[in-house]
Amino acid sequence: MSLKVLALGTGICVNGVHHIPDRQPPAYLIEVDGLNILFDCSEGIRFRLQAAGIDYGLITHVAVTHAHPDHACLPQLIQAKLCRHLWGTHDARTAEMKIYLQKTLARDFPQVWNWHQPENDGGYWNEFAPQFIAMDDGFEEELKPGINLKAFSVYHGYGKHPAMGFRLETPYGTVAYTGDTGLCEGARILAQSADLLIADCQVRVGQEYTGGYGHMGPRQCGDIALKSGAKRLWLVHYMGLDEPQVMISEVRASGFFGDTVVAQDGERAEFK
Ligand SMILES: [Zn+2]
Ligand SMILES: [Zn+2]
Repeated sequence: MSLKVLALGTGICVNGVHHIPDRQPPAYLIEVDGLNILFDCSEGIRFRLQAAGIDYGLITHVAVTHAHPDHACLPQLIQAKLCRHLWGTHDARTAEMKIYLQKTLARDFPQVWNWHQPENDGGYWNEFAPQFIAMDDGFEEELKPGINLKAFSVYHGYGKHPAMGFRLETPYGTVAYTGDTGLCEGARILAQSADLLIADCQVRVGQEYTGGYGHMGPRQCGDIALKSGAKRLWLVHYMGLDEPQVMISEVRASGFFGDTVVAQDGERAEFK
């Protein structure tokens, strides 16, 4: 028994510019005690899961940090799960799908689904019916005994975009994911004593003045890790224009000297 984390996408919403090596948009797979949990659901995620040897039909929990299109390709995964269930399966989990969304996003999602599938009259087919769980700041749910999902509001999109970061507590360790955020109290709380902190690092070195939109630079990620007592730090959602060693130096300048990685797609961590 263990907690496994796999980075399926450490990139952002663009590729193919400035000769930056391609990385996939945000998504993290967490496997713990038979649960397959997805943090963020970006485009083409089912292919990346398949390439990683995971059947997307068996992803039962999907937690989405916010609705920016690089994080929230939900209709595509729902449609794929629905049709996969419709086409026949021997595993009951293909019918299960719990989707965790900030409460206003959970309220509005049916309109998005209806835009894609008006013929469904707002519903789903063949006993496949995803459950939408509305989250507010401080949300907590026990997914199974000893495994708790918590969510905290974070600052993003000039503070106008409803966004949350997550924390999954398990008997083997705690993984925290900021989603897209600027420096804020929510990010510090969700990262408290985490064994692994996955932090949004989209702001370039020396350009922290742009952080008001709601992203962090590497020094700010280090600051969050230091003040929250996180043990390990993955910098993710970075543009790829700064040298990794320069990003790490910035983290050290914050005073955080824990294990730090400029994460690549396919990055893995395991806690026992
Ligand atoms: Zn965003
Ligand atoms: Zn983003």
